[in-house]
Amino acid sequence: MENARPLPSYLVQRYHGWKATTYAENHAWYERLATEGQRPRAMVISCCDSRVHVTSIFGADQGEFFIHRNIANLVPPYLPDGDHHGTSAAIEYAVTALKVTHLIVLGHSQCGGVQGCIDMCNGKAPQLEAKESFVGRWMDILKPKYDLVSDIEDAVEQARQFERQAVVASLENLMSFPFVASAVEDDSLSLHGLWTDIGAGGLEYYDPASQKFKPV
Ligand SMILES: [Zn+2]
Repeated sequence: MENARPLPSYLVQRYHGWKATTYAENHAWYERLATEGQRPRAMVISCCDSRVHVTSIFGADQGEFFIHRNIANLVPPYLPDGDHHGTSAAIEYAVTALKVTHLIVLGHSQCGGVQGCIDMCNGKAPQLEAKESFVGRWMDILKPKYDLVSDIEDAVEQARQFERQAVVASLENLMSFPFVASAVEDDSLSLHGLWTDIGAGGLEYYDPASQKFKPV
């Protein structure tokens, strides 16, 4: 591999700053994390979007959340076909090996992946419809939910509702994994759907009784 380069200097400086302060002040705690292994109580599936910061909004430290991020916080359906499945692998490890007790799907406002899916459903994104588009094929997971929001005329509101539907689709697909379904059924795992409004700092949870999102 000849293409890897040293870090840009601003990151080198930031690293040394962290090592000399945060790490130095808490080194015993870090050493204990290393020797005792991880025991996170919750897994979080969130979007790759750099504005989504689950550890900040819950004030979480290292070791607390087992986090998987992908485009639009989507969980694909259970498909044990021997192929590469990063999201499914993370879920399997969290549920069967780490035995997390909470699995949180965190959606967010202004999600580019969800907007891409809307554009694709409206025929406005031929590049995403190409077979070679990894983003497009990934967003196919959400396409069946488009009917639920296709009548919403206001584009901003439509996107916000579709972002919430991405969370619901992921929760539904999680239950197609046999080890998730059995852990939920024997009450050792609870699923949670959340959606965060980045600009307003808002957080909503999915309420299955009303099938609506409500403020936390
Ligand atoms: Zn996103």
